[in-house]
This record gives sequence, C-alpha cells and structure tokens, in this order.
Amino acid sequence: QCPWGAPNTTSISCSLADVMSEQLAKELQLEEENAAFPEVVAVAEGPFITGENIDTSSDLMLAQMLQMEFDREYDAQLRREEKKINGDSKVSISFENYRKVHPYDSDSSEDEVDWQDTRHDPYRADKPTTTPRRGFIGKGKDITTKHDEVVCGRKNTARMENFAPEFQVGDGIGMDLKLSNQVFNALKQHAYSEERRSARLHEKKEHSTAEKAVDPKTRLLLYKMVNAGMLETITGCISTGKESVVFHAYGGKSATEDKVIPPECAIKVFKTTLNEFKNRDKYIKDDYRFKDRFSKLNPRKIIRMWAEKEMHNLTRMQNAGIPCPQVVILKKHVLVMSFIGQDQVPAPKLKDVTLSSEDMKKAYYQILNMMQQLYKGCNLVHADLSEYNMLWHDGKVWLIDVSQSVEPTHPHGLEFLFRDCRNVSQFFQKGGVAEALNERELFNAVSGLNITADNEVDFQAEIEALEKMNEDHVQNHGKKLSMFSSDGDPPINDE
Ligand code: ADP
Ligand code: MN
Repeated sequence: QCPWGAPNTTSISCSLADVMSEQLAKELQLEEENAAFPEVVAVAEGPFITGENIDTSSDLMLAQMLQMEFDREYDAQLRREEKKINGDSKVSISFENYRKVHPYDSDSSEDEVDWQDTRHDPYRADKPTTTPRRGFIGKGKDITTKHDEVVCGRKNTARMENFAPEFQVGDGIGMDLKLSNQVFNALKQHAYSEERRSARLHEKKEHSTAEKAVDPKTRLLLYKMVNAGMLETITGCISTGKESVVFHAYGGKSATEDKVIPPECAIKVFKTTLNEFKNRDKYIKDDYRFKDRFSKLNPRKIIRMWAEKEMHNLTRMQNAGIPCPQVVILKKHVLVMSFIGQDQVPAPKLKDVTLSSEDMKKAYYQILNMMQQLYKGCNLVHADLSEYNMLWHDGKVWLIDVSQSVEPTHPHGLEFLFRDCRNVSQFFQKGGVAEALNERELFNAVSGLNITADNEVDFQAEIEALEKMNEDHVQNHGKKLSMFSSDGDPPINDE
C-alpha cells in the first residue's frame, strides 16, 4: 500500500490546453483583481474635460489634455497595484516613481539642444543595417534601394522597439506600420525628451502640492504659460493670502524679441472666491478709472479688474523709477511679474528683517521719497502701505501689492493716504528713527497739502472736508478739482 494514502480520484476540471490558454489566464487574473479591489476607483474629476469654455483650437492642448486624462487613469491603476502588493505589510514599497507625469513643465527646445549635443544615440538600432554597401538589393526593375519607402518605414517601426521601455509604442510591426524618417525622428526625439522630463519631474514633488492651491481653470492658465515656453517651471508657492496666492517660477523665453522675461518670476493669482473681495468694493467702485465698467460686471470680471489694476499701477510706478516688480504679463486674474528675491527665496518683508540703525534710516528716507514719487509722479496713493507690503532687497525698499492703490482724487484717497502715513510713521518711530516725521507731517510732506490741525481728530476732519469738496466739485462740474495737482513743489525731505 502506498504510504501517502490512496490518491483521490477527483476528476480533472480542465484540460492542459485550458491551463495554457492565455485568455483563461487573463480572465482569472481579472477575476482575482476584481475580488481584491472591489471598489471602483473613481477617476478624479477631470478639470480639463468638464470645464465649459475651454479653448479647443490647439491640437497640442487637446493632445495634452487627453494625456493628462490617461495619466490619471494610469496612476489610479498603479495605486491599486501598489496597494495589492503592500497589503497589510509593515514594510511597503512605493510605485511613486513609475507614475506618469506630464505637467509640461519645461519647454522642449531645451531638450532638443541637449539631444543634438548627445553623441551617443540611445535609440540607435543595435545591429547595423542589412542593406549592403552598394545600397540596393535585387536586379532590374525589382531593385530595392535602402531608401525604399516601404522597407525604410518598416525598419523605422521596428527600431521603435529600442525606445525606453516606459515609452509605449504599440504594436507597430503587427499592423505593418511604415514610419517615414521624418516621423520616426520626431518620435525618437520625443521619446528621449519625455524620458528626461519625467526623470526631472519626479525630483520635484512639491510641484504637485503647490498647484493644489488653485482651481482647475487657473491651473490650465498656468499650464498654458509653461506650455508656451514663457515660464520654464513653476517651482512652488511663496504666499497664500486672503486675496491672492503667489507662486515662484523660473522665466522662460519670450515669444517676441523685444520683451525679456526675467530669470525669476512671481505669479500672483487673484483668488476667485468672492467673499474676501466684498469689503474691497469701496476701493474700486469709486475709482473713476473703473467707474463705467463696475456696474455692468459680474464678480469674476471684477476680480480680473483687480489684477488689471495692479498691472496698471505697477507700470506707472516702474515708469516713475520706483523700485517695484516689473510686469511680465497679465492673463485674466493671473499676473506675472519679476521676482523680488533670489534663488527662489523671496526678499523679506520690512517687518521680518532686522536692519542696522543706518539702514533703517536709509529705508525711511527712501520710503518718504517713494511716497512723494508715487503721489506726484504716478498720481497714486498706495492705500495698503505698511511694513507688510515693503520688501528689503538689494539694500533698498521695494513696494509691492498695489492692486488696491487709487488716485489721490478717489473719494477716500486722502484718508487712505493718511492711513499709509500713520503705518509708516509708527513703524519707523518704533524702529528708532529719530528723524521720522509724525503721521500728520508725513501726510503734508507727501501730498503737498498744508493741513495745519495739530491733533488727529481735527486733521482727519479736514481731510474728509477736502474729499467732500472734491466730490461736490465733480458733481457740479463733471471734473476733478485742480488743487490736487498742486503747483508748488512739495518739500522733498532728504538728508
Ligand atoms: P496679498 O494681497 O496677498 O498681500 P501681495 O502682493 O502682498 O499679496 O503678495 C503676498 C506675498 O507674496 C508678499 O508679502 C511677498 O512676500 C510675496 N510676493 C508678492 N509679490 C512678490 C514678488 N514680485 N517678488 C517676491 N515676492 C513677492
Ligand atoms: Mn500684501
């Protein structure tokens, strides 16, 4: 008797042919997978597919949108596999580096240059071509040269197999695909730059986290800028405020010759959530420059107007020689400007920097000058001037955040100016600058007005009276009073 007991005479449930069948194997695997991951992985809502007014004029854009859609699904699948492998194990492995990433963060021209510089062609066919030296096979009219389209096309298709394994080329041979040299070369280059790009992108994980701060439409706008080569990379977020999010980016190449894009840029995205903007109405509603447009606009357009206002104001300041970011481009509610700072590190705000008493004094006189410049040269009042909106860079003060700035004849313009003066005056008096004027003196020095009240309450009453006078004048004559463009030069206080 057999020591291992009698064999069970169970009937064999499938034949060898079945076991070897690929189709059966696939079916079994699918079954297994479905059992392991019954949950349906909802493909994240595609911002690019669902958005309404999307620009569909560019084939490249469309192709990239589809690619993103594909990447998303691919990543979802990858996550499932990762989960399956890791299970409950304490030690887990990550498939992170196999993810598909195509944020189009770099312009391909850079890769092209690299490509041309590369002596070693990683995709060259392993074996030398089989066409003999003389360059043709056959005789008479059956002669086939190495330039024969069909032969060459098939050969090119076969050579695609040498592309990096991640680069899926499909079954070109099976469908007898014949690639022209031109197409093959383009594909080869693309495969090469894709490989490099994805390697580079995997190093920059912060990219994806930073962009979560913006909505899909804004993200598309940003992608387009990177796509157009105007920006090279958006590296991360510098600041998230109530009204805006600011990103850092490396500048790319300008489409037009005459414009130079700074090597580092700041991207200010005006938030499209409306709540925060409601209390800012008073700035823009009464600004005559925007008066005609304000009443007819929807909230989204109003936010664009803030961005537009910041652009106009920065341009005015730039023209007057005031240190401030230089405008690069405005697209809807996204304003790109030069970056104040270096190597991704923004210049510190005046409130965060500790200056020597000498620098402090220097900063004070510079600001006094800038306020006068702003008022006289740009016809503007900052309206949110404080140590929070002044950066210390290159040994001087830079003014930023001027979307709320108004002209002095704005119905509340002088009140805003007085508030600015109070902030500046208090900051420097606390900072130990003995020469700092008090807020009332500073106000007169900047505006060139001569309000004599020696206490705050009376001073403010006079300011409001002036504003009212101006308003009445506008009502009666349809234009502003001339007193604001004072004839006599205001005293420029300097050392
Ligand atoms: P907010 O209205 O949110 O205050 P700001 O224009 O003041 O917007 O920008 C917020 C922060 O982003 C600033 O305090 C500054 O640190 C940074 N920032 C804005 N613009 C620039 C720039 N051009 N260069 C460097 N940093 C900037
Ligand atoms: Mn600010």
